[in-house]
Amino acid sequence: MQDFTPSADVVGLYSCGPTVYSFPHLGNMRAYVFADVLRRALRWKGYPVRHVTNITDVGHAVADSDTGEDKLEVAAARERRSVEDIAVFYTKAFFDDLAALNVLPADEYPRATAYVPLMVEFAARLEERGVTYRLPSGLYFDTSKSPGYGTLAMMDVAGQREAARVDYVEGRKNKTDFALWRAEEQGVRRAMRWDSPWGWGAPGWHLECSVMSMALLGEHFDIHTGGVDHRELHHVNEIAQSEAYLDDGLPWVRYWLHNEFLVLNNAKIAKSAGPVPRLADLTEAGYHPMAYRLFLLGGHYRSQLDFTTQAVDAAQATLRRLIARVEPLRPLPVVTTFEGAVQAAGDAVDGDKAAVGYVEQLDAAISADLATPKILAILQESLRDPDISQQGLRVVVAAADGLLGLRLADLDLRDVDRRRSVSDLDPAEVEQIERLIVDRTQARKERDWSRADEIRAELEKLGVQVTDTPAGPAWELR
Ligand SMILES: [Zn+2]
Repeated sequence: MQDFTPSADVVGLYSCGPTVYSFPHLGNMRAYVFADVLRRALRWKGYPVRHVTNITDVGHAVADSDTGEDKLEVAAARERRSVEDIAVFYTKAFFDDLAALNVLPADEYPRATAYVPLMVEFAARLEERGVTYRLPSGLYFDTSKSPGYGTLAMMDVAGQREAARVDYVEGRKNKTDFALWRAEEQGVRRAMRWDSPWGWGAPGWHLECSVMSMALLGEHFDIHTGGVDHRELHHVNEIAQSEAYLDDGLPWVRYWLHNEFLVLNNAKIAKSAGPVPRLADLTEAGYHPMAYRLFLLGGHYRSQLDFTTQAVDAAQATLRRLIARVEPLRPLPVVTTFEGAVQAAGDAVDGDKAAVGYVEQLDAAISADLATPKILAILQESLRDPDISQQGLRVVVAAADGLLGLRLADLDLRDVDRRRSVSDLDPAEVEQIERLIVDRTQARKERDWSRADEIRAELEKLGVQVTDTPAGPAWELR
């Protein structure tokens, strides 16, 4: 692990953003919650940050390859809408999810289509430098001219992996070479097309991130983030082309951070959920978006996280308990920096030593590669601590939430506990509940109290509350 030291007064932070051709799913959103925590950590340390997240609305070919149709064009054909409509619609869906997950807005959300002329200039400079070659299918970057190509991914370039998603391209010199410009095939007119020195066509996918980050953060900047799936291809190629473009012997970006995947084990969240559920499926099923955020923060960003119904149920229950515990402490102060937190804790009741201790623990945890599970544990511990003053506790809760972003200062318990109504259940669920109730009645008749309690606990897990009335047991959803 390396220590972070900023290179300028403002930390430049670039996060690879979404390709806006479909709804973002829960796994996609992990990358943005992770980048948000990183941003909050930098704020905690007192560093001003300029954060850029791109919106890919052109250039991302199906299967991440260099040939074939653009994802946006495929979506437009599928939905019988224009590519512009598709981009606008799914960009909004992405922003809605960011807002619901309490992700601090980036300073800029550049759209790739607005930067195509700069991308053409960038590729032309690479061509001047002699690190490219032309093929009928477009302009390609020659990775054999890039010293240290693939270092980021610790790739075995000698054995050059032919990753499943790197397709065969006629005439390509090295398997790892990639398109800077994708020329239109003869007789095929793309929906999105620009003129260039290499003919009509569209930019290669990797080009936009290099061009837009440099345009908005300067040629060199401090931190670049993205999902671990970008580490071996997209980011390796971004680095190769950027360093060839700058040709100044310096690393283009100083720190690369990648979040691991969310693993979905057939979690059944909602009837409407496709193979990979999205945030709206969770909220329709009665979970609060902050429960999903809490679930994500319960794992370290560099660890794979198993998404299961039980895990998100547990997160929802933890969120409910947290909010119920924190509500009486409100209003909370606004504490976003370590320095501010130490000062506020020191001011509390002539210096609340317990509170200062917790703030120091929070600082150690966020400094240790963003250890959010540890921060959650510290928060819980402070809430159980009999020796901390109310005022000190307010500071600790506010400081923890400045890092976690769980809306502890304003989330309403009634919103967290949005009741599901019986009509939301499908017939199989109703049948299951009623069978359990019959079994429980039978167990009680047989005076088998432990069995009856067991069944009650099972019903509680399903969110069902049973009341015994003279007319027999009645049930409702909590
Ligand atoms: Zn990118």
